[in-house]
Amino acid sequence: MTTVSASSGEARRLTDGFHLVVAALKANDVDTIYGLVGIPITDLARVAQASGVRYLGFRQETSAGNAAAAAGFLTGRPGVCLTTSGPGFLNGLPALANATTNCFPMIQISGSSNRAMVDLQRGEYQDLDQLNAARPFAKAAYRIGRIEDIGRGVARAIRTAVSGRPGGVYLDIPAEVLGQAMDASAAAATIWRVTDPAPRQLPAPEAVERALDVLRQAQRPLIVLGKGAAYAKADREIGAFVEATGFPFLPMSMAKGLLPDSHPQSAAAARSLAIARADAVLLVGARLNWLLGHGQSPQWSSEAKFVQVDIAASELDSNQPIAAPLVGDIGSVLTALCDAVAARPVTAPAEWTSELADRKERNDEKMRQRLAENPHPMRFYNALGAIRDVLHENRGVYVVNEGANALDLARNVIDMELPRHRLDTGTWGVMGIGMGYAVAAAVETGKPVVAIEGDSAFGFSGMEIETICRYRLPVTVVILNNGGVYRGDEAPAGSDPAPTVLNARAHHERIAEAFGGKGYHVTTPCELRSALTEAIASRGPSIIDCELDPAAGVESGHLAGLNPKRAAT
Ligand code: ADP
Repeated sequence: MTTVSASSGEARRLTDGFHLVVAALKANDVDTIYGLVGIPITDLARVAQASGVRYLGFRQETSAGNAAAAAGFLTGRPGVCLTTSGPGFLNGLPALANATTNCFPMIQISGSSNRAMVDLQRGEYQDLDQLNAARPFAKAAYRIGRIEDIGRGVARAIRTAVSGRPGGVYLDIPAEVLGQAMDASAAAATIWRVTDPAPRQLPAPEAVERALDVLRQAQRPLIVLGKGAAYAKADREIGAFVEATGFPFLPMSMAKGLLPDSHPQSAAAARSLAIARADAVLLVGARLNWLLGHGQSPQWSSEAKFVQVDIAASELDSNQPIAAPLVGDIGSVLTALCDAVAARPVTAPAEWTSELADRKERNDEKMRQRLAENPHPMRFYNALGAIRDVLHENRGVYVVNEGANALDLARNVIDMELPRHRLDTGTWGVMGIGMGYAVAAAVETGKPVVAIEGDSAFGFSGMEIETICRYRLPVTVVILNNGGVYRGDEAPAGSDPAPTVLNARAHHERIAEAFGGKGYHVTTPCELRSALTEAIASRGPSIIDCELDPAAGVESGHLAGLNPKRAAT
């Protein structure tokens, strides 16, 4: 804040765009910014830090954006990512798009170059029409054109990011706006706190009755919980409905822990059977997209009727006819459903629940046998069995998970007991979210984080180990190293390594050591168990490189069927 003398001789306090952006964010409870500084936003980060907003500086903007998105999912408030003009902005876009796809509230604030120069394509420093470039990747994109609109722009970005279906919002602030000055008290009057940013949305009573009619007629009802249900923080209402009806439930990967995976009504261990046989399905914050086989046969019964709870009416009927739409926020809808079943109970037919229980028991036994094997070199299941044992002893740990086999197998082996404790590749199956999500989980919760990473997946954001070490975050990165994308044993067709091959002899733990973290290299489940126990207890940064059999793993993990078939060899 600067004091200047007005012509009248009276002292007048001035403020500028930098201070006003920070003031507008603070007025809306933004207490953390994830970013990477450079022209023109370096001073914005400095002003934020000086005014008590925590600033976390990354090594690449995509990770900063991923951290902001994960913060949004965990807190229900928009995570904020700060990027520079041009290339920095572009590096943030994959995270903005990923946040939008996953329905995570996030705001990417980016500085941009001089508008007059950019629009006439005069060859300005890092020139790019950022606003229009961002539009297809965001829920909304706004530009602030003058200092007086900073408060309005921030309020608009916050409201848009969290209301209705949450998503990523782009907020463009040209360099010249950051540098503009105005009278401080007039400026203070231009910022405001958004009232009730994500208002409740109640379902219509007839929609509730219609839904219950469908569920009452079902012989084989099933509840599918998605990450929208986890995000909604309606844990109590969801638990009450599941237990009042006795319906089996299936958690999508980021909804694991909403009810404990050990819950007797969890049908996770009988997933294929539950999906194939269900005749009425209540989708709660889950989309019938590729992750659910689009709700069609052969995975699903063609008889299945769908009841869908979603805040976005446009989601309904996107794949299958929705027999009973329930548009509203999950907390309100589930409260209405609970009230209705309290008045007129619904129960799950015993024949169905015992059919699922039998299948679960068989599959659980198969899993126990797989985990008990101890081959040399180690394979995915054996490493994951060790991780599972340690996490059972450390219930509050947050789990981040990415990779192909590392993702597909960990999702089944690592059970979750607490809600919103698992962050993974999500709707896009995107690689590179690992370190950004891990930073956010540690920063937003203060709890230890274990990132279970394929060696290839880790490479996409691996340099953020330096970030994790710089801030001394309680993050342990477990790298399931089979030396390749999918696996590391493919024979080359020429003199270079095969396209899928990385380096099974790599010592990733040395990357942590280079930046002052702790490194472990393990070759057996027993070594892994003791390294992970020690690493979590240390509450510091570490990498555990797990040497796996390069022949372990299958191409494309569980998604091999998505590869187009080659017509010729
Ligand atoms: P999953 O991948 O776990 O199946 P999705 O991301 O596909 O989950 O689906 C999440 C759904 O939840 C989205 O369609 C989104 O509109 C919806 N959603 C998000 N928040 C809420 C909320 N508070 N109330 C109702 N629906 C919500």
